[in-house]
Amino acid sequence: MDFSRSAEENAKYQQTKDFAGAVLNGDVIERDLGNVFPADLWKRSAEQGVLSWFMPRDCGGDGRTALATSYLLEAMGHGCHDNGLTFALGAQLWSVQKPILQFGKVDQIERYIPGLMKGAVMGAFAITESGSGSDAFALSTTAQRDGDSYILNGEKCMITLAPVADVAIIFAVTNPDAGQWGLSSFLVDTKTEGLSLSDNIPKMGLRTVPFGNITLDNCRIPVACLLGAEGSGCSIFNYSQSWERSLVLAPQLGAMQRIIDQSIAFSKQRTRSGQSIGKYQSISHRIANMQIRLETSRLLLYKTAWLLDSGKQSVTEAAMAKTHISEAFVATCSDAIAIHGGSGYLTETELERQSRDALGATLYGGTVDIQRNIIAGMLGV
Ligand SMILES: Cc1cc2nc3c(=O)[nH]c(=O)nc-3n(C[C@H](O)[C@H](O)[C@H](O)COP(=O)(O)OP(=O)(O)OC[C@H]3O[C@@H](n4cnc5c(N)ncnc54)[C@H](O)[C@@H]3O)c2cc1C
Repeated sequence: MDFSRSAEENAKYQQTKDFAGAVLNGDVIERDLGNVFPADLWKRSAEQGVLSWFMPRDCGGDGRTALATSYLLEAMGHGCHDNGLTFALGAQLWSVQKPILQFGKVDQIERYIPGLMKGAVMGAFAITESGSGSDAFALSTTAQRDGDSYILNGEKCMITLAPVADVAIIFAVTNPDAGQWGLSSFLVDTKTEGLSLSDNIPKMGLRTVPFGNITLDNCRIPVACLLGAEGSGCSIFNYSQSWERSLVLAPQLGAMQRIIDQSIAFSKQRTRSGQSIGKYQSISHRIANMQIRLETSRLLLYKTAWLLDSGKQSVTEAAMAKTHISEAFVATCSDAIAIHGGSGYLTETELERQSRDALGATLYGGTVDIQRNIIAGMLGV
């Protein structure tokens, strides 16, 4: 395994970090407090190439590997203080663009991929329902075949980008007698009659990304909207999750680096009882622990990306990466607040927001409990 970067990748990392720092942070505190989605910054990020780096050259992308793309997403998180924005960009890339590329028919790819890459079309991935969640395949949403159409009925909840999505990958039951092999996925235009999107549903963190429900009420779609074959929903879900779970936390590596840098600077500059607080072991050991967590998080994510690029099995590694990085980010935010004392609790220091954002990653894409079930299962427990 070789995780070294080329000179071009190093330069691109720096350029991406500088772009993110200069362009994406302006009113981040106000955006968070007001639950405002920065649609213009989504567009600017897409223009910068964030949604194209990974895409194949014949689709107009850069054709970078998962590992190389992860470096650049890490740079985004390093420069951009808006974890909601970086999370949502990654969610669309790995759970919408990647499965469309892999399973889409030529006309589906041609219709959606260019707009998704440019930031002109926004995509959501919708499986969760009030009765499913961790039990991902216990779906109530149905897709009933009627001639050349399917008729969709049901409701998806907690869907990232749902309120602003132009297209959604929707999972539904096509054969109730076939268990998980009776699930199918559909690529549905959200303007279709019978489909409605909720307003943004307020949440604890990641508030700059809108999130909500998709309701399907006798929503008639052409058979051509099937993504992959009928009955392949479970495989498409597992495939999408293997990419999202592995790579969606790449920006959080950069965010952890940024928070460590902030904490080191504060620990040197802040004095108490005549010395900088960094001289106290309570502070210096916290910073050492933050660095250990960041380094182990990097190694896990890079290894998982390398496995994906190599076409090798990565189920255990993806679940370990998702669990470790999300928990490392929560612990790092908590340590940073402790290091900053009372000022760490203030909105203007930006750590309380990072801390709220961090908890989201322990839940979305399968909770850390579900990831541990996967790891234990792969170990034969
Ligand atoms: C910020 C955010 C973004 C999201 N974006 C999307 C999206 O874009 N698309 C989408 O489809 N969904 C999305 N979700 C939904 C997310 O995938 C679910 O919230 C998650 O899978 C957990 O399901 P649940 O909320 O129903 O919790 P539940 O399944 O009800 O779980 C409740 C608790 O029980 C535990 N638990 C449940 N079953 C087991 C088990 N078998 N073993 C051990 N513990 C268990 C869970 O770990 C958790 O602690 C998002 C959620 C969040 C918070």
